[in-house]
Amino acid sequence: MSATQQAIKASMLSVVVPIYNEETGIDALIERLVPACEGQFDSRFEILLVNDGSTDSSWQKICHHADRDSRIAGIDLSRNHGQQLALSAGLSHAQGDYVFILDADLQDPPELLGPMLEKLRAGNDVVYGQRKSRNGETAIKLFTSAMFYRLLGKLIDTDIPRDTGDFRLMTRRVADHLQAMPERFRFVRGMISWVGFSQVPLHYERDARFAGDTHYSMRRLLALAIDAVTSFSIVPLRFASHLGMLFGIAGLLSLSWVGWGWFTGGAVRGWASLAGLILIMGSVQLLVLGVFGEYLGRMYMETKRRPLFMIAEVHRQPVVATHSANPVHRMNQEITESLRAAG
Ligand code: UDP
Ligand code: MG
Repeated sequence: MSATQQAIKASMLSVVVPIYNEETGIDALIERLVPACEGQFDSRFEILLVNDGSTDSSWQKICHHADRDSRIAGIDLSRNHGQQLALSAGLSHAQGDYVFILDADLQDPPELLGPMLEKLRAGNDVVYGQRKSRNGETAIKLFTSAMFYRLLGKLIDTDIPRDTGDFRLMTRRVADHLQAMPERFRFVRGMISWVGFSQVPLHYERDARFAGDTHYSMRRLLALAIDAVTSFSIVPLRFASHLGMLFGIAGLLSLSWVGWGWFTGGAVRGWASLAGLILIMGSVQLLVLGVFGEYLGRMYMETKRRPLFMIAEVHRQPVVATHSANPVHRMNQEITESLRAAG
């Protein structure tokens, strides 16, 4: 075994899984995730299941698993914060040398941890799952997602890889940099790309959901898309002035056409065209104002500097042995003690 391999063998993994109303899938997730982690890290791993204000029995299931296995911990958010903030809450507790992010619905196969780790061993800092195919997705979702990534690619400088979700394995230093980014509107996959270092894809077949339905309606997807664009680009703001110039030129052309008509005796008649122009101008101005408003509103929300998420409870097994050989146990114990000391 090489020195790097040995270092990886002795290091620790944190797995972060955001969970929102996934009661039907949690058992199957744990059943596949635990052996996948054991295969690579023996018992040196922690699985952080973040309950994002589920209204079903997800939290009870999470506690059940955390009670049975000390390597599993539950983090209960005070309400539904959205997947991106749930992820951030999980990352803020992740202590491992490597951090593995995956969805709870088994669309991202946990068994890919091995191949991803191999790619990290080759000297990379992030390995992201890139979908070769996506089973069980509707044609509309495939189309809108493809359009979104292409548009995003045009608007921003950061190279956010296409056809990826949040399925990723990263090193501690990337996780630390991510932690240091304080923004409220979080598009985690974009933020990870922004951090840089060496990031490589692992191509995989995206499975269909194990159970239940997607939580992303068209409206939520659109909101995520606006978050992505506004947090990585100010091109839409510049677009406003371009639009202004374009319509200015169009106005000048139409005025010269009217003037020409006046000189040649064939004055342009009618108010319909005028009404049309006023409507178009009005709509363009409102559109531009809307784009400004979007950025201004986000600035306002950011300046409040509210905490990103509220944690109601961290559910971990109390550790019995003071000098446990298991580093995760020791770490859990320290955290439990510091929480107790803090009251
Ligand atoms: N999720 C979450 N909070 C939400 C919505 C979703 O934590 O408000 C979790 C969900 O439980 C899942 C992951 O985010 O683990 C991805 O959600 P989903 O499968 O619905 O998205 P899709 O795969 O359809 O894009
Ligand atoms: Mg899913």
